[in-house]
Amino acid sequence: MRAAILSLTLLLTPAAAMAEVVVEAIRTWQGPEHTRVVFDLSEPVRHELFVLDDPDRAVVDLANTQLSDELVDGIRSEGPIERVRTGQRDDGVRIVFDLDRALKAEGFAVAPNSQYGDRLVVDLLTGEGSTEGLLVQRERERTPVKTSNGTPRGDFVVAIDAGHGGEDPGAIGPAGTYEKDIVLSVAKRLARRVDAVDGLRPVLIRDGDYYVGLRDRTRKARAANADLFVSLHADAFTDRRVKGSSVFVLSRNGASSEMARMLARSENAADRIGGVSLGDKDPQVASVLVDLSRAHTVEESLAFGKVVKSELSAVGDVHGKGVEQAGFAVLKSLDMPSVLVELAFLSNPEEERRLKSADYQRQLAGGILNGIREYAGSERPDLRLAGGEYTVERGDTLSEIAARHSVSVQSLRSVNNLPGNQLHAGRTLQLP
Ligand SMILES: [Zn+2]
Repeated sequence: MRAAILSLTLLLTPAAAMAEVVVEAIRTWQGPEHTRVVFDLSEPVRHELFVLDDPDRAVVDLANTQLSDELVDGIRSEGPIERVRTGQRDDGVRIVFDLDRALKAEGFAVAPNSQYGDRLVVDLLTGEGSTEGLLVQRERERTPVKTSNGTPRGDFVVAIDAGHGGEDPGAIGPAGTYEKDIVLSVAKRLARRVDAVDGLRPVLIRDGDYYVGLRDRTRKARAANADLFVSLHADAFTDRRVKGSSVFVLSRNGASSEMARMLARSENAADRIGGVSLGDKDPQVASVLVDLSRAHTVEESLAFGKVVKSELSAVGDVHGKGVEQAGFAVLKSLDMPSVLVELAFLSNPEEERRLKSADYQRQLAGGILNGIREYAGSERPDLRLAGGEYTVERGDTLSEIAARHSVSVQSLRSVNNLPGNQLHAGRTLQLP
């Protein structure tokens, strides 16, 4: 009897009311190598994804799912997407992306985190994909360049990596500021400053609001034959009083402090937010690449990190003593000196306010630029790096400043119209 009632109910219930999963929002992110479509779901969904040609389109079937027309109408036609259509099916909903080109698509489910619930991510792959083969090839191309010591070899290339992006906001300040926005803004300022120095050339790893996988960040730096890698962050800490900038380099043997360990954990989790597990790449290939130059690179990274930290101490508070070490995934498998700079703590209300100001962003970019100049100048004396500025600290002398920036006292004087030896703390000096 009960079975009979149940089947009667099923017959009378409209299909839509039976749907269990609800699509709550749809977001799209445009990156240079993919367009990412993210479906926010009330619970995990069974999905199928495939591409068809003539005309080119990507089809997503979501089983047992409700989707409102307004959400679909809200998807902009940009990147490869020309139009989006939907159709209700017996067992769910079909979403069709009409495309302006043939491409590959990938779909994967992402588990809830502190920010979002269950999600389905669909990547429409528009550009060169990430392959370990490419990584190895670049490594071979790079090696002869490194060994030709002393011979001129073009600009000193600085890879500037704004952390997070797109679906991954990074830390969120008490007033709602996103880390991804702050670091992109500072990265762009830094790139402009680097570009203004003869002999230096910037490469922005991310130049918009989209996510780049941690491995893809290092791949891009390699592809650009970068000589230096600077990853910019502004993270949160549980204790809101903690403030100041800090500089980290890779450690293979554990973290140098509890904070370093915590930050590495949260940075490394970014790829899980982005939906790509680091574990799906061949770890063997990666570790071989790291071993090639690990010891030397970590040493160089520490040297570069010290210079950057000392320059940042002229800009504002610095956290902790010296350069810290931790197992940051973004710094792994890089064969160039690489540092991760936490510009400040977004969890500290005062620092959140400063981080949003253009003036402070400029100062931070200036401090990092000075560190880059100093390091690049010592590595590549042939470049005769010029330009940049330095903010005088209490106790500084002209000769010390000159020595630190590899310039003469005389040139420092004439560029800044300094008649005597007296310096005022806080004054900005142009570096010749
Ligand atoms: Zn971060």
